Amino acid sequence: SPLQATAPTAAATDVPVSLASSSQPPKMSSPQDFTFLKELGCGSWSTVMEAVHTGTDKRYAVKILSKAQLIKQKKVKYATVEKDALAKLSGTHPGIVKMYAAFQDETSLYFVLDLAPHGDLADLVKKYGSLSLQCARWYAAQIVDTILWIHSKGIVHRDMKPENVLLDSDMRIKLTDFGSAYLSPDGDLSPRASTFVGSAAYVSPELLNRSSKTTSNSSDIWAIGCTVFFMIAGSPPFAAINDYQSFRKIEALDYSFPEGFYDSAKDLVQRLVVLDPSDRLGVEPKSSPSQLREHTFFAALTDDPADTPIQWDTL
Ligand code: ATP
Repeated sequence: SPLQATAPTAAATDVPVSLASSSQPPKMSSPQDFTFLKELGCGSWSTVMEAVHTGTDKRYAVKILSKAQLIKQKKVKYATVEKDALAKLSGTHPGIVKMYAAFQDETSLYFVLDLAPHGDLADLVKKYGSLSLQCARWYAAQIVDTILWIHSKGIVHRDMKPENVLLDSDMRIKLTDFGSAYLSPDGDLSPRASTFVGSAAYVSPELLNRSSKTTSNSSDIWAIGCTVFFMIAGSPPFAAINDYQSFRKIEALDYSFPEGFYDSAKDLVQRLVVLDPSDRLGVEPKSSPSQLREHTFFAALTDDPADTPIQWDTL
């Protein structure tokens, strides 16, 4: 390949080949640099393909956004926001999908992303009906850690839901789909006016308020509560026959726990799925991120030595 031909050899330069060649990374700047294998999924204005990078043989997920569709559906801003958020967050935390390159041709925009070969958290829960307490706690901890991280970087995800939590080759989480994110210019994530973004079953009540829709980092905290409920109950708390019914249930905090729902998880959900955004666990100034991390749901729950508390610093 051209790379092997140009990379200096160890004997000639006295540096390891891998180091020397890393200064000249294989090109990743056009669709021609990839072999596209199969469609992994599609969103409203995008298609995600599994692709092999021809320079390295490594596999990626390439998200392809049609320029014509983006313009027609007035979604150019979503693509810009997604790229800006990923550019800012990529590689900063293991729970966030990494973007390796972004480029375009006449018809499309391309984002080269980590390939998540195990689908998403919604698929996983649907496959098993619900998750065990230990498993739900492990995923909840990774989600909390990742969301608190992006908040610390001045970003609100605003479309946090199990479908946007991808699973990597180790079955660990990779948060994706930052098209609805809010990027604060100065890191301030206190409540501000917002149009409706997100998904019906996970949207927070402050975004439904007819007179004053607002959003803040607390909207993601609400969605984490709904996700914890979903992992254990098998369906989201405000599931309904249509979006309108979901919205009515959310505004009335109309949901109930199925029988056998674990007590510590119930307590956590009840502290996150709270109508007033300023009253949710983890949200400053009334609470703090460390109070969320220290909730008993994340501590050892039984005397079983295998049941160890979540170690936040080794997540
Ligand atoms: P939506 O309209 O639901 O918001 P979207 O246009 O933002 O979708 P994504 O959610 O990013 O698109 O991706 C669409 C689908 O492609 C996902 O549901 C998932 O199945 C698949 N997918 C996305 N990213 C990856 C990835 N990195 N690895 C594997 N599959 C992926």
